Parts: sequence; C-alpha cells; structure tokens
Amino acid sequence: MAIQLAVVGLGKIAQDQHLPAIEASPDFDLICGASINGESPRGCTYGSIETMLESEPAIEAVSLCQPPQVRFAAARAALLAGKHVLLEKPPGATLSEVYALADLARERGLTLFAAWHSRYASGIEPARQWLAGKTIHSVRITWREDVRIWHPGQKWIWQPGGLGVFDPGINALSIAAHLLPAFRLAEGTLSYPSNQAAPIAADLCFTTLDGAPVLADFDFRQTGQQTWDIRIATDAGELLLSKGGDRLELAGVVQTLGDEAEYPSLYAHFAELIAAGQSDVDLRPLRHVADAFLRASRVEVEPFVEEEPGLRAVMA
Ligand code: NAP
Repeated sequence: MAIQLAVVGLGKIAQDQHLPAIEASPDFDLICGASINGESPRGCTYGSIETMLESEPAIEAVSLCQPPQVRFAAARAALLAGKHVLLEKPPGATLSEVYALADLARERGLTLFAAWHSRYASGIEPARQWLAGKTIHSVRITWREDVRIWHPGQKWIWQPGGLGVFDPGINALSIAAHLLPAFRLAEGTLSYPSNQAAPIAADLCFTTLDGAPVLADFDFRQTGQQTWDIRIATDAGELLLSKGGDRLELAGVVQTLGDEAEYPSLYAHFAELIAAGQSDVDLRPLRHVADAFLRASRVEVEPFVEEEPGLRAVMA
C-alpha cells in the first residue's frame, strides 16, 4: 500500500522536484497539499497545515517545503497529529528546534527525515567509495552562484533564519560531512550586505581533527559560469566533484555516472525509513553553519538590491 502523503509549501522546490518525484514514486500517493498561494495538483489544497491535518485523517506523511523559519511549527503539528515528516533542507532555523522535533518523533514512534538532497547526487556514492582508506591532505569547496538567478524574489533568504549564502552553502557542507572525517571551524569571515540580515558570502577555514585544511568559499555574487565544486587532495591523487556532485573526476579521470535522481532517491529513502520505523536526522551540516555564525568575523559590504520584475522588463 502506498503511503498517503501531503506536501506543504508549494514554491519552487516543491514544484520543480517534490511533485514530479512523488508522482513517479511507487511508495507514495499525493492526496492533498497546504499552501498560502499555490494549488495542489490533486486539487485539494488547504490554507494551513492545521486545517489540512484536521480535515484529512488519511494523511500518513507530510513533506515540508516552506522556508526554514516556518517549518518547526508545521513539523510539530504534523508529528502531534501522528504523521511521519520529511523536512526540506535546512531542517530548521535553529538546532534546538530540530532536536526537539527529533525527540518528539522518537516519543511518538514516527519517522523524521532531515533530507539533504545533495547527498543523492550521482557522484557522491562513488566518491565516498573511492575515498575509503585514503589519506586526505586538503579540501577546497567553491560554491558560487548568482542569487538573482537561483533565488529571485525569495525575501525569506535574507531574513534572520533564512541563512543567506548558506542556503546553497549548506548543500556543500552536507556533502562534506558525508564524505570527510570530522572537521571543525577554525576561523572565517561572513560578508553581510549593509541592508540585509543574512550573509551574501562566507570564507571559512575548517580543519579536520588531524589538521588537514578544509577551505570553503561560498558566494552569492557570482555572475557568468556558476561553480559548485569540491576538490579533495589525497595520497592517491585528487578527487574533483563538480556540478553540485553530478560530475566526478578521480585522479584526472572523468567517471561515468548514473542519471541525476536526487529527489527520487530521497523519497525512496523516506519510504525505507517509514517501513523500518526509523528516523534520519543528521544535524552536522546545520551545526557547521551555526558554528560559522558563532565563530566567524563579520564585515559589511555593499547593499544587495534585487531589481523589480517591472524594471527588468523595461531594461530588456
Ligand atoms: P520558495 O520558492 O520561496 O517557496 C517557498 C514556499 O513556502 C512559498 O512558495 C510558500 O508556498 C511557502 N511559504 C510558507 N510560508 C512562507 C513564508 N513565510 N515566506 C515565504 N514562503 C512561505 O522557496 P524554495 O526555493 O522552494 O525553497 C523552500 C525550501 O526548499 C528552502 O528551505 C530551500 O532551502 C529548500 N530548497 C530549495 C531549492 C531550490 O533550488 N529552490 C533546492 C533544494 C531545497 P505556499 O504559497 O504554497 O504556501
């Protein structure tokens, strides 16, 4: 029997990835959604998750795809109503709220899945296998993208809890935490636009516990070619993951990888967790981000102003 699922927050990622992956999944049936502005493809859309949970007792699981600042209240309501919960990344706006959700899921015997979609990119598992037993000398993460292209109009990303450049940067940290031995932040700099509450760039010097440097350069101001690369120098040559994990080079040789299937894999794992009565809540990526806010210095940079769509049309 397929698991009866509802999706909450029908914005970009829900439309681009969740809905197609659910549609193709043999494990889930989408029965309804909760949305402020959108429409569930099942035509059964509630204005709030609370009304949805009251009205649709058949729901067994929910996927929460809203911005992180509003996810805790929705996740708590769903768990209290006895539903399994998938949290889009980042799993919350603070560490404490996600710990509280994990405790609640455990008490109620429900599945909580903090989904890190980048870990399902096609190069990640072959990279993990290749790294096994090798000595890591240094790591360089370069995650530079144009916020105007990838996050147009997303005001929440600049507000407290929206994480700014860590919204994509946490994807790199989710891969790094999965592939590397434990690392910690030694120092760093966060660049804040003078008119925004979240950083537009981050320069971070992590180090493994053995002292190998893990340098991370996150920047939202990249124009032209976009870069989502992780380079790992080892005693057996260099590993280069690029395109966010969908291209892999090992000691100079480009590897043949399977097709991109991040969200289908993520839903397959959610179904396995529910069947096994388990949760999967790895907080290391969010912990590294929290450490950056605790430990890095802060500089102010020029204001970030997003063009109004009307102005863009006039300029074009
Ligand atoms: P988005 O396009 O801004 O959509 C977020 C949706 O959440 C909105 O459309 C809205 O949908 C709902 N929402 C509820 N309360 C809201 C509030 N106070 N402010 C704004 N929206 C609110 O954002 P997104 O890109 O889909 O990102 C959502 C989450 O997915 C983020 O945590 C992000 O990190 C993650 N994510 C995004 C991507 C990507 O490529 N965009 C990739 C992976 C993960 P309703 O009108 O339906 O309520």
